[in-house]
Amino acid sequence: MNARPDTTRKGHCALVGAGPGDPEWLTLKAVRLLQQATLLLVDDLVGDAIVALALQGRPTGSPTPRVVNVGKRGGCRSTPQAFIERLMVAEALAGERVVRVKGGDPFVFGRGGEEVQALRRHGIAVDVAHGITSGLAAASALGVPWTHRDHAHGTIIVTGHARDDGRPAGGPASGPDWPTLGAAAATGLTLVVYMGMAALDGIAAGLALTLPGDTPAAAVMNAGRTDARAVIATLATLVSAVREAGLASPAILIIGSVLREADQNAVRELALGYTRGLCQEGLASPPPQETGTRAARSHRSATLQSRPPTGRTTARSA
Ligand code: SAH
Repeated sequence: MNARPDTTRKGHCALVGAGPGDPEWLTLKAVRLLQQATLLLVDDLVGDAIVALALQGRPTGSPTPRVVNVGKRGGCRSTPQAFIERLMVAEALAGERVVRVKGGDPFVFGRGGEEVQALRRHGIAVDVAHGITSGLAAASALGVPWTHRDHAHGTIIVTGHARDDGRPAGGPASGPDWPTLGAAAATGLTLVVYMGMAALDGIAAGLALTLPGDTPAAAVMNAGRTDARAVIATLATLVSAVREAGLASPAILIIGSVLREADQNAVRELALGYTRGLCQEGLASPPPQETGTRAARSHRSATLQSRPPTGRTTARSA
């Protein structure tokens, strides 16, 4: 999305989708905006390597940008959204080249819409560089497309989390209607659930009212990062598989027959990594034995990679 040139505009702000963590997933536009920034407002789901990239390779003579972490870290409360919006507006009006860096895509459950509205209200030019959303990164980790034509004619992207103000995301009177979504998925749609871990039991139970229990279901944690982990199970066994593997947020749930196309070689190799890594450290039990049948393959649990994340190095001034 490009802001039209407009001489009445005051200041500039860009919303940059950082993708799942690896800088290789960034668009060229995102890299340019990051390296032109004088102020970076960084969410907690943004990988350290992305911030490092913003600090390196800058045009000659370009000052090092200030880096402000505005996400929740180390169990602290997250920075209030209204504060972030006020900061973006004030700094852009003061002449900073503000870049708001968000994990995944800014417009997929990223509150980018609210931020764009706030900036526009103040006449500030807004640019958006889209990023690879974590739902896609999760599918990619398993080697499946959202919409393999043998399995799905579409995808439902949905949040499992109600809004902080108590109102459900999207505005309807109650949270996602899982039986209705399950019925829709049963017609041949892949379900991709963001923010679903806290309410996983309810989501699985609600979907199970309308979707067969043997529908393949996966959870992918830290998709697109070096510490990615995942389980592939069924709707009936997803909750126990997630618990057994110790998966937690941030994670994406994918439910649908498209998971039958998961890259078994990659999953097997990564499952061996799981056995050697976490199991030896006593943090998790090994995945069930491979039996070789298609059903067993798509229903078994497997964990992808177990390398620890790198430490963050950016300055904090929020
Ligand atoms: N704008 C982001 C989503 C933010 S909402 C995007 O496009 O990806 C936060 C939720 O995104 C998390 O609760 C989790 O469900 C998901 N998420 C973000 N990063 C993730 C990752 N690396 N792996 C798996 N899920 C992730």
